[in-house]
Amino acid sequence: MIIDLSSFHDETVINLSIEGQLNKDDIKVYGRKIKFLEPIKYCGEIYRVDDEKILHLNISYHYQEACGRCLDNFSRKDKTVLSGKLVNKESEVETADEDEEAIVYSGEKLELDEHIINAIILSLPMKPLCHEECKGLCANCGINRNKKDCQCVIEDIDPRLAILKDLFPRE
Ligand SMILES: [Zn+2]
Ligand SMILES: [Zn+2]
Repeated sequence: MIIDLSSFHDETVINLSIEGQLNKDDIKVYGRKIKFLEPIKYCGEIYRVDDEKILHLNISYHYQEACGRCLDNFSRKDKTVLSGKLVNKESEVETADEDEEAIVYSGEKLELDEHIINAIILSLPMKPLCHEECKGLCANCGINRNKKDCQCVIEDIDPRLAILKDLFPRE
């Protein structure tokens, strides 16, 4: 969605409601593929604070991704917020670039989509997991240990303890 900010020239306009959906199939980021199962939904407003325009948007999305441990696809519904000061690319001084909260636009147009996608990327967990206790794949036979147990015996010794074991061999 492209928001026309020209109405803000009128001092009596205090806020601008925003509500919409963004159709995006997937995003590929950090070698991950985030597949959206439904349109991304957002709603919020742009409002005036002194001389500044502030955007606050609630974003909700439903996505599917492969688990980083067991490689199975899982889906999750999540929410995030896109919030910050609107900064005009042409009229602002250089320092604006360093302002992390700044949401940059040019002309009278604010292109929301890219900002929404960035907000989603920032809110994704560092490591995708189907669930916290995912047991992952067996390092020996490759079986999905969430679904089946295997008989593999894997020596799972903390490397720090392994050193101690060598230093103090059992008699
Ligand atoms: Zn998993
Ligand atoms: Zn195994």
